[in-house]
Amino acid sequence: MLIYNTFSRKKEEFEPVNPPAVTMYICGPTVYDYFHIGNARSFIMGDIIRRYLIFRGYRVKFVMNITDIDDKIIKKAAEEKTDTSGIASRFSDAFLHDLEKLKINQADVFPRATEHIEEIIDVIKKIELNGAAYDGLDSIYYDISKFREYGKLSGKKLDELESGARVEVNSAKRDPLDFALWKKAKPGEPSWESPWGPGRPGWHIECSAMSMKHLGESIDIHCGGNDLIFPHHENEIAQSEIATGKKFVKYWLHFGFLNIQEEKMSKSLGNFFTAREILGKYPAEALRLLYLQTHYSGPLSFTEDLLISASKGFERIKNFALLIKENINSSPAYGESRFDFEKYRLKFTEVMDDDFNTPKGLAVFYDFIKDANSFIQNNKPGKEFFREAYELTKAIGETVFGIVHFDEINAKTEAGIESKLIELLIEMRQQAKLDKNYKLADEIRLKLGAIGVTLQDSKEGTTYRITV
Ligand code: AMP
Ligand code: ZN
Repeated sequence: MLIYNTFSRKKEEFEPVNPPAVTMYICGPTVYDYFHIGNARSFIMGDIIRRYLIFRGYRVKFVMNITDIDDKIIKKAAEEKTDTSGIASRFSDAFLHDLEKLKINQADVFPRATEHIEEIIDVIKKIELNGAAYDGLDSIYYDISKFREYGKLSGKKLDELESGARVEVNSAKRDPLDFALWKKAKPGEPSWESPWGPGRPGWHIECSAMSMKHLGESIDIHCGGNDLIFPHHENEIAQSEIATGKKFVKYWLHFGFLNIQEEKMSKSLGNFFTAREILGKYPAEALRLLYLQTHYSGPLSFTEDLLISASKGFERIKNFALLIKENINSSPAYGESRFDFEKYRLKFTEVMDDDFNTPKGLAVFYDFIKDANSFIQNNKPGKEFFREAYELTKAIGETVFGIVHFDEINAKTEAGIESKLIELLIEMRQQAKLDKNYKLADEIRLKLGAIGVTLQDSKEGTTYRITV
């Protein structure tokens, strides 16, 4: 199996340190707001890679951190006149809820920074002991000049990095690229006791410490979006390798950006859709399908039209799965079953083994569906055919891609009717307004609200959100 390693900038044979065990860490969210579908791309592709490794027989331990203390959380708490733990718990609950809705499998551990202060302090102490930390008045900083290999992940020379770095005003840093390990508390900020006085951890150290705690000092795979290569992952390497003297990560995997009109989707640019908004309008499987159509490492330009056509693709897949499910018990025991399932399974494994090539893997799945459909039309397949078709659809569509859910297929059809009924009520409310029957229009809105369907009016029309 080949895997593209950002570290070596080439595809390498995948040889985990301790097979069949695989240790995998993905940088999770900072919980100060709902996450957008750009973040979701990274989370979904991480989920699919993990699922594929399991499909190939590996025992994967998967850790995703939750950054629950950080400048952005402090700022949000101040804006809302509440405390940081309230903000963090509200948005980490929302995060976990949305992950589930996106059919992303739960991590084995979701470690939170504020629950690992002791471990974080221990790693900083080791860095200090090895001479790579100094007191820069407002923070304890990492001294990058002490790590000769600094820049090895991003592949840049120090002077190149330095000229690109923003120099922080008022900082007592020796080098603009030095970064905070421990931020001393300013008045009113949440803080924890430490050998350097009350304060809180920097962002990078949290991932080093939590990866080591839950997966060991050397791990197989560490992943995150492209934007994390520098400085976040570069700094994680510098911290961890100075602290332990061991190689921190064997394979570095990075996800391409989700762009919107040529720009990276991001909170700061304001050009985003939250995962919640999208899930109110489209099935999670459509978004997953859209992301599977592009290789995880490349950029992907988002448009709503792409999502609409992915929804149609999902309908096709769902109809096929339903056909299989309906026939598995009702078809005759004997019938024509000479269909080469193995061919598709082998081809799927071959293309996915080449650095998780999901666009090709998806093409194999669609070919299988097309060929199986025409086989069903032209022959009288028996139970054995439907059983094998079920197994293969389950393996590719459910286990690896997470776009088929056999248990939910009937329920999903009902959910389809549900959304049509809501649309119908919205139309009736629109008509009531045109007829100046505001009492009825209001009643429809309030009664829908009472069962957890919130209507939102805008110039473009009325949309709804399911809030239960
Ligand atoms: P953040 O909460 O900003 O730290 O982001 C959480 C994860 O989402 C990180 O792995 C980021 O690299 C990733 N991410 C952020 N924006 C995008 C984007 N537009 N496309 C893909 N991944 C993204
Ligand atoms: Zn991280």
